[in-house]
Amino acid sequence: MIGDRATTEETRRRIAANIARVRATIAEAARRAGRQADEITLVAVSKTMPLAWVQIAYNEGVTDFGENRVQDALPKVAAFHPPGMRWHMIGHVQTNKGRKVAEAFDAVQSVDSLHLAETLDRYAGVRGKSLPVLLQVNISGEASKEGMTPEETPALARRIAALPALAVQGLMTIAPLARDPEEARPAFRGLRLLREQLRQELPEIAWLHLSMGMTDDYAIAIEEGATIVRVGRAIFGERVHT
Ligand SMILES: *Cc1c(COP(=O)(O)O)cnc(C)c1O
Repeated sequence: MIGDRATTEETRRRIAANIARVRATIAEAARRAGRQADEITLVAVSKTMPLAWVQIAYNEGVTDFGENRVQDALPKVAAFHPPGMRWHMIGHVQTNKGRKVAEAFDAVQSVDSLHLAETLDRYAGVRGKSLPVLLQVNISGEASKEGMTPEETPALARRIAALPALAVQGLMTIAPLARDPEEARPAFRGLRLLREQLRQELPEIAWLHLSMGMTDDYAIAIEEGATIVRVGRAIFGERVHT
């Protein structure tokens, strides 16, 4: 029907324009920080969004997608997973979902306990895959936030890095919700400083990545060293809360 096709084309144009705008913002922030834009991976956070929109973003050159709920994500991952595209788990994973996550996802950014890490390791091992993971750190110390404390991170990192089927690649954090994005800067800086400490204490681990920054604050996160930004609303629009 013409009406449907028009709607689809409008959606495609909207998402394509949003992606172009986000890429321009990434490039500007990188330039301000004296960094290269290609050091920064854009993860499009597609939670609650239809698979068709993921495919639109993919056709615009986005290769990395993030989901935070296992049950919602699995059908999308099963339906669309071309070579070179990566699905990232970015939300809290209950251990009883560890198997499905290890099997379906290309990376897990939200590893926040040894128990979860061991479960992911077991099932990634069964699959014969090496699963890239980030350690989620509650850098701001907010009681409501998931993640390990900065203090416990070195000891946990050491044990998680010893698991054969996991590849620890860095750290992830979620900054506190704030009206002014500048308020997120100390959390981003804190994660970068923690990575510097870990590079000294555990040089055998490749501390490549800092996954930090979302729609409201990803430019600031890039100024503070983010190598991965997780952007949902600026690409797909506001989520309808369920
Ligand atoms: C939803 C979500 C994002 C993206 O948030 P936006 O504000 O839509 O950019 C990033 N990271 C995590 C962990 C999320 O759950």
